[in-house]
Amino acid sequence: MIGGMSWESTAVYYKRLNEQVRDALGGLNSADIVLRSVNFNDIVAHQKAGAWDDAARELSKVAIDLENAGAEMILICTNTMHLLAPQVQAAVGIPLVHIADVTGEAVAGAGCRRPLLLATRYTMEQDFYRKHIESSFGIEVLVPDAADRQDVHDIIFSELCCGIVKGSSQQRYKDVVAKGKAAGADSVILGCTEIGLLVSAADFDIPTFDSTLLHADAAVRMSLAPAMPVSGETGFASPMH
Ligand code: GLU
Repeated sequence: MIGGMSWESTAVYYKRLNEQVRDALGGLNSADIVLRSVNFNDIVAHQKAGAWDDAARELSKVAIDLENAGAEMILICTNTMHLLAPQVQAAVGIPLVHIADVTGEAVAGAGCRRPLLLATRYTMEQDFYRKHIESSFGIEVLVPDAADRQDVHDIIFSELCCGIVKGSSQQRYKDVVAKGKAAGADSVILGCTEIGLLVSAADFDIPTFDSTLLHADAAVRMSLAPAMPVSGETGFASPMH
């Protein structure tokens, strides 16, 4: 796990991975994890400066350290930093489990065709995530309008990554999703690993896909396969009516 971006969501991953392994194997079984948690402040500085090459070097070095420590696969525990997934993958000989592959597969597998992507502005506005899903799964990824994207982004960095969860922000996200649904969205991607701290499937009346849970569950499935595939619950949840 390349974690710490932010640690608020890495904690969700850590818990989910362990719960899934316990559910699959029972008893005192838990996930055998190699985790490196970076200083998010440094990463955000690179993001703000557009210094993606520097960030790629840092995350690639972390990935190499994880491989040397015995990791058998890499999870970049943030959607945004999958902007650098090709460079990180190229640095190691073990597979990188791409969060957009896992998420897109769940959306398409559920028969949804026009998901609304809620994420950081980097993820919503650049091609590396939306286009990745669109070209791999033949579906159309919608994003909120510019003002809504800014609010969604600001709530992630100013609140969720700082451990702050506000009712007013939850309502803001619900309003953005209602607008997206009116514009033709048939589902929602929680495409930032902290968003599940604010809202969940129960808050929306269209199918909701939590990238954090889907990513963690895919890693567990890959780790246990073929010995024991994980069955049952995934990050996908049907809307509650
Ligand atoms: N964790 C967030 C994501 O999934 C944002 C933090 C970051 O910029 O890496 O995109």
